[in-house]
Amino acid sequence: MASITLQNLVKQYGDGFPAVNDVSIDIEDGEFIILVGPSGCGKSTLLRMIVGLEDITSGDLLIDGKRVNEKAPRDRNLAMVFQNYALYPHLTVFENIAFPLRLAKGKHTDDEIRKLVTDAAKTLELTDHLERKPGNLSGGQRQRVAMGRAIVRQADAFLFDEPLSNLDAKLRGQMRSEISQMQRRLGVTSVYVTHDQTEAMTLGDRVAVLKKGVLQQIASPRELYEQPVNLFVAGFIGSPSMNFLPATLEGNVLKTAVGDIQVTEDKARAAAGKKVVLVGLRPEFFEDASLVEEHKKDLGSTFMAELTHTEWLGNEQYGYINFDPDPEVRELLNSLAAEMDADELRPQIVVTLDAASRIRGGRSAELWLDTRKMHIFDPETGDNLT
Ligand code: ATP
Repeated sequence: MASITLQNLVKQYGDGFPAVNDVSIDIEDGEFIILVGPSGCGKSTLLRMIVGLEDITSGDLLIDGKRVNEKAPRDRNLAMVFQNYALYPHLTVFENIAFPLRLAKGKHTDDEIRKLVTDAAKTLELTDHLERKPGNLSGGQRQRVAMGRAIVRQADAFLFDEPLSNLDAKLRGQMRSEISQMQRRLGVTSVYVTHDQTEAMTLGDRVAVLKKGVLQQIASPRELYEQPVNLFVAGFIGSPSMNFLPATLEGNVLKTAVGDIQVTEDKARAAAGKKVVLVGLRPEFFEDASLVEEHKKDLGSTFMAELTHTEWLGNEQYGYINFDPDPEVRELLNSLAAEMDADELRPQIVVTLDAASRIRGGRSAELWLDTRKMHIFDPETGDNLT
């Protein structure tokens, strides 16, 4: 096992903006780090730089404190687990796992290979399948064979490049928890690339969010969710996404297109001096006011809104509120959409309601908003001011 240190890493392909731009991350021994971001943000390039498949334009890469920029991939002792598992269909599970050991000709005796492979198979619960071919295995078992290969090599770290993206949703969920348990059991340093924020949030000790080659924030899943540093991270993490509502401050009241929101002193201070701010509201900050206990009501703000429609999901409901922004606000939303790598920022708010709520579309209803949790963003810099 090893620590991996990225110091000001840059990857420049041509004349455009760098694919990876000045990224620094300290990955601790045994840590599970996720690199996440939209397509083209540079996460695969970063992973390939770590494993040695891509030259480093500038900056330093250290494994266990030693600079390895110029080291060939085979000398870095890192194991890559790919999307398609890269298993050989004509070889048995045993031989697939043994493959990297046989490749290092003469390094291991047959007895050693047998022991390493059977030990790994035991860890991965593959003992009963060693004589099978990959074609006769489930997707989950194949994934484990791919991990077995990484284990027998006794690699210092595992690098995963979107290993689950070819699987259907159910299997993806199962494999996610298998990988997570396996990583914790083995305690091996792991770096995992995905564009799926659910995977990122459920797997990682820490999650690094990238946008256009630049590291936006690296933090625990909880911290990313509760304290996103900017609009991009706030919008990327969470499903349904955080709502962004343009607002102007008057005293301790934020004036918005869906109504006035009374805010606390500290939130008002954060918004002070700005012509327009963006209020960030996760769908679950809202509730049907009639279902909120009286003593709790005062901790937030109530307002009337007309929902266009609701969707019932069994355990909860989504409600939709459209607002009609004036031209200036619409322009602001359009410019922010580009900044956030989104097609558009719809003038719409999504709220989650308790399954028991009787609020329906087309009628005005009283909603409660937990203003304690709301975020206030500077639309110019994108920074979270709260
Ligand atoms: P995806 O999820 O789509 O794989 P990603 O976040 O992994 O995206 P990268 O594949 O790392 O992104 O690409 C980052 C940027 O570098 C993109 O703009 C891409 O077009 C560019 N890029 C990647 N590889 C090369 C290459 N060999 N030559 C030139 N440009 C490249």
